[in-house]
Amino acid sequence: MRDSDEQLPKYTVAIVGAGPAGYFTAQALQSSQSDELTFAIDMIERLPTMWGLVRSGVAPDHPKIKTVAKVFEKVAAEPGFRLFGNVELGRDVSTEDLTSTYDVVVLCTGSAIGKKLGIPGEDLPGSLSAAEFVPWYNGHPDYASISVDVSGETAVVIGAGNVAMDCARMLALNPAELDSTDTSGHALEALHSSAIRKVFITGRRGVEHAAFTAPELRELPKLEHTDVRINPNEVSEAHERAVAEHGEVLEKHLASNLEAWRQIAEHPISGHAREMEFRFLSTPLEIKGEGKVEEVIFGINEIKDGKVVATGASYSIPCSLVISAIGYESAHISGVSFERGRIANIEGRLVGTNTYTVGWAKRGPSGVIGTNKSDASDVVKLIIEDLKSPKSAGDITKLLSPNHAVVNQVGWSAINLAEIANGEPLGKPRVKEVDWAKLLEIGLKS
Ligand code: NAP
Repeated sequence: MRDSDEQLPKYTVAIVGAGPAGYFTAQALQSSQSDELTFAIDMIERLPTMWGLVRSGVAPDHPKIKTVAKVFEKVAAEPGFRLFGNVELGRDVSTEDLTSTYDVVVLCTGSAIGKKLGIPGEDLPGSLSAAEFVPWYNGHPDYASISVDVSGETAVVIGAGNVAMDCARMLALNPAELDSTDTSGHALEALHSSAIRKVFITGRRGVEHAAFTAPELRELPKLEHTDVRINPNEVSEAHERAVAEHGEVLEKHLASNLEAWRQIAEHPISGHAREMEFRFLSTPLEIKGEGKVEEVIFGINEIKDGKVVATGASYSIPCSLVISAIGYESAHISGVSFERGRIANIEGRLVGTNTYTVGWAKRGPSGVIGTNKSDASDVVKLIIEDLKSPKSAGDITKLLSPNHAVVNQVGWSAINLAEIANGEPLGKPRVKEVDWAKLLEIGLKS
């Protein structure tokens, strides 16, 4: 029992993962409370820093998206919510310990492992996954020291989704445009010294099949220091194919995307030193190089009867850096079953248990930050439906070893405020601390 609480909550919930899915789950639980139903929520996070992809995924030049962190901090300030940072499920506490003591466990552990292309040369130095590159420029402590070779003139980003777009923009922007952002110090330094002037983004299917969303595409003609190239014929052919397949009235998302592409194709090239170029109908076949990346070989595809097929022809892009941004898988957790790269679940239930999952760990790596809000709300409805008599014994402090260094809400606030204060004189929203030991030093002082 949590004897320190003034009013005993009826149900104890452990939420694992302090990212958007975790906070939205806590919020949905809090808003479902009534006189008869109250929740005591313990949020557990492996890192000493919070907010998951809002901190280590969202691109630094998209600061508006990060304002959702205010909502997370409001959730954290509600009665009955406790934060346990620097606590790793499977290392510091077992899944079994959580499920046997808490009434409900919700796994919001995301998907942090980059999918592999499965082609020769993928592991050459100079070939990285977005799952490494993105947390590198975003100051994730585990990726602060990875090597990102920006000494060559050309980089290739594989994948036609918003993560690929973020990676390409980060490489193709004038780094001065990132000076006022929270890009990590090591990445900003590397980007300032970068020789990269040309960034290719490649998709294996047609323009009409790309997973980019229209707001991201509409940004491209507005870039001040980067020209964006797409062959106008590719855009008009994609439009013709879409109309042939779906009729004159296209579905809203496709119509907005094709309109955005038309504007990109028609936008005049200004002659900037920096360029992004889109290549579609290109399947990566091999990454080649003597001891490091020197070129990527692409197979050329065509669309026949609505199907993408290989023509048998190929071409090469000489480059020194390849980033593959082709999706993610969840990291395994001992005691939890996984299938198809995510936690095995039916609508968020780990059937036959008191465990649930929300977010990318549940549905795979899809949707924007806000998608997790409706996802959390749907799963919380099921949680409430399934509730049995409360055990109310869940208390992580009894499961951790007595000397475990926990970053609690006060400690996390100290880290957060220190970073903001360090950013202020530099005109940045924050300067991220990337050293785990230093983060603990700040987060444990309080
Ligand atoms: P995504 O949207 O699913 O895109 C993945 C891309 O990788 C697709 O173009 C896919 O092509 C391609 N791909 C997959 N396997 C491949 C292979 N073996 N070879 C070549 N290409 C391959 O995934 P994401 O970009 O990682 O984004 C994840 C989610 O986060 C998305 O919902 C995205 O919208 C969201 N996100 C949003 C923002 C934002 O709102 N600004 C920013 C970042 C991410 P096929 O279609 O042919 O499979």
